[in-house]
Amino acid sequence: MTDATPVRVRFCPSPTGNPHVGLVRTALFNWAFARHHGGKLIFRIEDTDAARDSEESYAQLLDAMRWLGFDWDEGPEVEGPHAPYRQSQRMDIYRDVAARLQKAGHAYRCYCTTEELEQRREAARAAGRPSGYDGKCRNLSEVEIAAYEGEGRSHIIRFRMPDEPITFTDLVRGDLTFAPENVTDYGIVRANGAPLYTLVNPVDDALMEITHVLRGEDLLSSTPRQIALYRALAEIGVGNGTEPEFGHLPYVMGEGNKKLSKRDPQSSLNLYRERGFLPAGLLNYLSLLGWSLSEDRDIFSIEEMVAAFDIADVNANPARFDLKKCEAINAHHLREMAPADFAAACEPWLKAPYAPWPPENFDPAAFEAIAPHAQTRLTVLSDITANVDFLFLDHPVEDEASWNKAMKEGSDALLRTARAKLEAAEWNADALKEAVLAAGEEHGLKLGKAQAPVRVAVTGRTVGLPLFESLEVLGRERTLARVDAALAKLAG
Ligand code: GLU
Ligand code: ZN
Repeated sequence: MTDATPVRVRFCPSPTGNPHVGLVRTALFNWAFARHHGGKLIFRIEDTDAARDSEESYAQLLDAMRWLGFDWDEGPEVEGPHAPYRQSQRMDIYRDVAARLQKAGHAYRCYCTTEELEQRREAARAAGRPSGYDGKCRNLSEVEIAAYEGEGRSHIIRFRMPDEPITFTDLVRGDLTFAPENVTDYGIVRANGAPLYTLVNPVDDALMEITHVLRGEDLLSSTPRQIALYRALAEIGVGNGTEPEFGHLPYVMGEGNKKLSKRDPQSSLNLYRERGFLPAGLLNYLSLLGWSLSEDRDIFSIEEMVAAFDIADVNANPARFDLKKCEAINAHHLREMAPADFAAACEPWLKAPYAPWPPENFDPAAFEAIAPHAQTRLTVLSDITANVDFLFLDHPVEDEASWNKAMKEGSDALLRTARAKLEAAEWNADALKEAVLAAGEEHGLKLGKAQAPVRVAVTGRTVGLPLFESLEVLGRERTLARVDAALAKLAG
């Protein structure tokens, strides 16, 4: 790539189903590549399959891009010189190109029926020959065509592959060569006239003057076909004749070393949003699926990624999706937020439908006081709800497992002593800790053992934010009332 060629990459999902992490990784690498090179990202919607595409999914895609913080230079809502950017609105273009390809001899009508194709494929397999399309309709005469038409047969349009190998240098995988017997003539328009992905994707890449195609490895087998089609398009004057370079991003493996599938719950972007991942944390993690900033750093900002991102550094080996690592990286990004930003980011999880307390119970001052303790401990933002609910519920949550774990023989005696010392203490975390420590000592218990029944009495749970800071924010009156309620329950 010379510096004179402005980089133009595209992100071109089909609006089928919910966005998934594989798609986000592709968007990220394209976006980072465009931004790194001062180029343009073209966002195109490949919605030519009416049976599978939906408006809901289209809206979700746009929403996901915005949430992730990806901007695009051309595409829906932004528009641009190659509008429209939804393929469903470009059907006339594809019809025209298909006709021109046929006229120039690059494509032809194929009248073979599915059954005939299947039969011949079987025969080829049995004879140990390659089983792609055998070229039967490559050179039909007018008479043969008239005969097929007379029989009432329908036809698809097939692209004529050149008879020589297709060679290209993949930006990730190096030099690749595909032999003609393995890449045979392929359909570009269905019998009902609907253009296929095989046609519309390269046609738009040509018209939109895409310079680099960065996409998943699953699409590698379509690349020699698309390169041949580009060359034909250049010949008939579609696009500016530049053949894009290709880089195929490695597979992402999920559980059990199987390819992470769209249907895998772990792959749904919505799940990460609902759990309260930060875009910064999620993108940091996803960037590591095939790329790294440096050997000794896996935490970085999106700006740092953009500054360093080079497609040549992408690794061809499959990447393993590791949710635990994704969570750890997110936790890191949570800690790095400005406290006010963290508090603001928690907001959705402090309201219905997540928050179980009556909305009028929410006390912003109490939340602000406890938030810094949460910020250093949370993995995802949604964890905030259960960590602060004790402040806003009228009574601590009832959790029998926690209760049974913490309330042992002698817990009532310990709680009575602790209550007396808490009541007498100055109401700050240090003094409260001293009080519980002293109560424990009287009963021969270390701090950890002594604070467990207090924590469960006050919060309902055995785990949570630092206890004494929690008590300080909860206040004397409510703390003592909850210890009393626990004592009453113990006295049962
Ligand atoms: N719409 C295609 C897909 O989502 C795009 C593939 C490509 O990047 O060429 O699989
Ligand atoms: Zn045929």
